[in-house]
Amino acid sequence: MLRNFFIGLSENQLLNQAAQKYGFQLGAQQVVAGTNIEEMITSVKELNLAGISCTIDNLGEFVYEKSEAIEAKEQILAVVDAIQEHQVDAHISIKPSQLGLDIDYAFCEQQVEEIVKRANKVGMFVNFDMENHSRLEPTFRLLDELKAKGYENVGTVIQAYFHRALGDTKKYNDTRIRLVKGAYKESPDVAYIDKQDIDENYIKIIEEHLLHGAFTSIATHDHNIINHVKQFVKEHDISRDQFEFQMLYGFRHELQLQLAKEGYNFCTYVPFGEDWYGYFMRRLAERPQNMNLMVKQVFNK
Ligand code: FAD
Repeated sequence: MLRNFFIGLSENQLLNQAAQKYGFQLGAQQVVAGTNIEEMITSVKELNLAGISCTIDNLGEFVYEKSEAIEAKEQILAVVDAIQEHQVDAHISIKPSQLGLDIDYAFCEQQVEEIVKRANKVGMFVNFDMENHSRLEPTFRLLDELKAKGYENVGTVIQAYFHRALGDTKKYNDTRIRLVKGAYKESPDVAYIDKQDIDENYIKIIEEHLLHGAFTSIATHDHNIINHVKQFVKEHDISRDQFEFQMLYGFRHELQLQLAKEGYNFCTYVPFGEDWYGYFMRRLAERPQNMNLMVKQVFNK
């Protein structure tokens, strides 16, 4: 129930605007690496020093006007340039909806291609984050069409809660893929709802891509899954160059450092920007204990 409550809040545009207006408080600053490029680059440099690479998300949701989507694209291009200029170990994650997917597919593709092209010039990978079910097919289509145009620096996310996840994992075995459990509220017609079913499907798709796929990013804070992967790669003699673990900025930081220290490739997902509200609410939906972060922040002022 709490999950639905926070997901509902994440989709509330009025609250989103109010959050931006009333500042970067309520704990968001612990899980969002600043509101501008300069602050984000400082955070990335710190993580790089600990042997951790980063994937950068310029936060943004609720884009219904082409002008907003173009503005978002310009900001993302500035992120690509900043990563290059500062020579930090990082790539980018983008959300197609932020670049106009809900407005006009062809327009969105043009915007995404501009970003992928700029990143490609400097050998940078671009991940297409996967959003809710209605955006699944168009996001795969973007990936397919850009790959067909010859771009190899693109990949996407497969969400284990979808019934179709194993089929998608097999289909995209030639692609660098991030595997996650899934963060949005979905219908039981298309997705597993029960945690155990999701976890079981998650293990299935991880094993499938590790055994038969290209580079695999295992994005989870779940130590049971991480321990399973450690054991699985050992048993199947899978090289550490073939995969990485990923976690979100500000979550289980000690575990992030430990995995990097143990010699696993580790990548932190670093969100930044003023539009932090929806992202933050989804994190509360996943784990209401994250509310502790919020409470601590309010009382530590
Ligand atoms: P959960 O199922 O939330 O937790 C399992 C167990 O792990 C918990 O019971 C607890 O014991 C432990 N645990 C979890 N969190 C903590 C914590 N903070 N502190 C201590 N113990 C903890 N979703 C999408 O739909 N699309 C995306 O593109 C996407 N990209 C992502 C990128 C990254 C790098 C990550 C990490 C997640 C991404 N997600 C994405 C979100 C993902 O789908 C899950 O909703 C989210 O990661 C929560 O699931 P989990 O696997 O971390 O573990």
